Formats: sequence, structure tokens, C-alpha cells
Amino acid sequence: MLVENMLEKKPVIKDMSQCKEILWVNSQAGEERELPFSMADIEDAEARLARFSSYIRAAFPETEVTAGIIESPLKEIPAMKALMEKDADSEIPGRLFLKCDSHLAVSGSIKARGGIYEVLKFAEEVAIKEGMLSMEDDYSVLTEDRFMDLFSKYSVAVGSTGNLGLSIGIISAKLGFKVTVHMSADARQWKKDLLRSKGVTVVEYEDDYQKAVAEGRKEAAKDPFCHFVDDEGSSDLFLGYSVAAKRIVKQFEENNILCDDQHPVFVYIPCGVGGAPGGVAFGLKQVFGKNIHIMFAEPTHAPCMTLGLITGLHDEICVADIGLDGKTAADGLAVGRPSRLVGSIMETLLDGCYTMEDENLYPYLTKLADSEGIFIEPSSCASFSGPVQFTHCREYLDKHGLADKLDNATHILWATGGSMVPKEEMDSYYNMGK
Ligand SMILES: *Cc1c(COP(=O)(O)O)cnc(C)c1O
Repeated sequence: MLVENMLEKKPVIKDMSQCKEILWVNSQAGEERELPFSMADIEDAEARLARFSSYIRAAFPETEVTAGIIESPLKEIPAMKALMEKDADSEIPGRLFLKCDSHLAVSGSIKARGGIYEVLKFAEEVAIKEGMLSMEDDYSVLTEDRFMDLFSKYSVAVGSTGNLGLSIGIISAKLGFKVTVHMSADARQWKKDLLRSKGVTVVEYEDDYQKAVAEGRKEAAKDPFCHFVDDEGSSDLFLGYSVAAKRIVKQFEENNILCDDQHPVFVYIPCGVGGAPGGVAFGLKQVFGKNIHIMFAEPTHAPCMTLGLITGLHDEICVADIGLDGKTAADGLAVGRPSRLVGSIMETLLDGCYTMEDENLYPYLTKLADSEGIFIEPSSCASFSGPVQFTHCREYLDKHGLADKLDNATHILWATGGSMVPKEEMDSYYNMGK
């Protein structure tokens, strides 16, 4: 399809090409479709993380309190809700929560789910293949020198805008793997510094995320002992993220959150390449079905998942094709082309997409800090306009028959990163929002 035709036929794409904020309702949402994964795959990943909990607990004492399970709180944020309503001069019917993946142990972002999971799975495969581990063992033995020696013969590589690199770097170095992180130009300096301090090799590129991933892939392909974590298409990453959905069931109960025909739940997740939000969305739809509504948020300069879904072209189109530069202060979302794995899976699972201008990120960051005392990074704020927008979107409410059920609704903003941001850096974000 020629770009000119596309812009003409789809006004929403024309708006996107002009960096306007948009909201898109997915008309294919809920259609029956065969998917490449099932509940059994999520359960398999959940069981693997349970096997590793004794290792995680021993290797990262901060996880003692959760017995080696890396999980985040679900917090109601009424003061933030009041601020958002005042700003928008309109009500957000229902309750508002923050899912604090911004504060996940070990690497301080949603990548502590998928990223760590993929490296653990690789370590398990290696150790079992070498006859040094069986699935019934207490995995805390993996902290012993003999395993460090074994893993030092292998390496792990990844391309990243920052947070995936952090999670892969930290867990790989801890297990004893040699690890190389290929960082795009968007990656913040402190993330590179932190990784180097842990013995991780960081290779920097002047170029964007896609280039960093391509270089990582190329280098890893030369080395048969190297495992490449492919953010643009990894099933392991995807399934690691999906486990979040199983774990949130209990948090719903604890907070009296219902999800049924009369009680819709809306989940708003910032999206980069799509792996993290896609895995979470897949898990949530498997667990809760059609009454959980999932929306992805992207920056106006890099709405790659939205563009792939609207055109149906997925990873065959990138934001540069409609004239966008892909540059954004939401560094974790600075991705020009969506995952080749996730786009097509989202075709029938995702309920909608929307975008946010960079200058609107920081005020949300500051307001969340002021109202709730919670600090998250700019990328994490891309979703915050969702509750006001979707509860006032006639097209969406009519499509799902929601208009008279909104008072029973629960809204969950999925915070994706922030707790590892150094204080001076966070102060400067905060001041920008002021
Ligand atoms: C990685 C990341 C996302 C999005 O995850 P993708 O898998 O790239 O879509 C969102 N927010 C933050 C802070 C991230 O680090």
C-alpha cells in the first residue's frame, strides 16, 4: 500500500503522521482466533519461576520478603484519580489502581518479568543438559561456584533501549554468564554505567533500537555458545511477562475487584516493541476473558504497534514510513517497528490504542509523585490519559455495551519502570513536570 493512499483512506494514520494524539478502537477485538500459545504455556512459565524462587531468594536478598518471587503491588491511587479528574474537568467513573511494575525487585521495571525469565530458562536448559541439575532440585545450588564456572563458558546478548538490557545484564552477570548489552542511542547514561559496574559489556550505538538489536543478533550468531534474547520476537520473553496475569488474581480478591459482565476492568499499558504489554495482555485475556479491556499507550513520535495494527502490516511497516522520527522522551518506548511475534497475536486480543505527546508525560509523573508519593519514569506515564479518554469514548462504550456499567469499573494503569532511576535524574524529570 502506498503511503499516500494510506493517509487518504485512514484519517487516523494521517493524524499519526502529523504527531497528533489519537485514540483507536480495535474493531477485530474479541473475534475467535487460533493463538500460538495457551494457558498451559503460562502455567509452565509460572512453574519454572517457582522452581527458581529459592535461587532468586539466595541471589537477591531483597526478594526475601516475597520468598524469591519477583512480584509488584497493586495499589489504589484515589488522590491521583482526584487530580486527574480535576485536570480533565470530568469524572473517571470507577476505581483507579496502579500496578507497580515500576518497583519490581532486581531491575526496577516490567523487564524483571520477561527478561529475567528468559535467562533463567536458558540457565536451566544448560545445567540440565550438562547433567548438573534436575527439576526436582533446590535451585539455590545455582549460586555455587561450580555453576558459575559452567555458565562462564556461555554468553548472553541482547539489544535494548535500556530496561531490557538492565534486566538481562543483571541476572546474566549474577548467574555467571558473559553478557553483552547492545544499547541504542536512546538509552540513558545511568543505565549503561550501572551495567558496566556489574561487569556487563555495554556496546553503544549512535543509531536507534532496531539497529542495536540487529547488531546484537549478528554478533551472537557467530558464537554457538551465545544465547541471543530477541526482543523483536522471543516467545520466552512473552511468556515470562504473561505470568503477571496469574498472579494478579489474588490481588484482585484482596482489593475486592470484580471482573465480570457487570464489572468491567480496564488495563492501560505503555507499549514499545510490544513484548511486555503483549505478554501481559495475552495472560490477562486468558485468565479473565472479554470483561478485561486492554489498551496500549504509545508516544506520538513512535506509535509502532498502533500503526502495525491499523494497517494490518505489523512488522512490515515502521513509523518512518509515515514520516515520524521515532524520537521520544519516553526512552523505553522509542521503537519504530513492532515485534514480529506480538502484532498478529494482538489483532484480536487488544481492545484499543492511544498516543501521548512527550510534553504530557512529565506532568503526570510529577502529579503521581505529589499525590501518592510514587515515582515512575517518563515511559511509564504514557498510559495516564487512558481512563478519561476511554470512559468518554462513545464508539468504545457502545461497541461493548458499557455505558451503564462504568460506575462498577476498575481502571489499572500499568506502571512499567522507575524505581532504579537515580535520584538526581528523577528530580530533573519531576521539575520538568512542575
Ligand atoms: C520496555 C518498556 C515498556 C514496553 O515494553 P515493550 O516490550 O518494549 O513493548 C514500557 N515501559 C517501560 C518503562 C519499558 O522499559
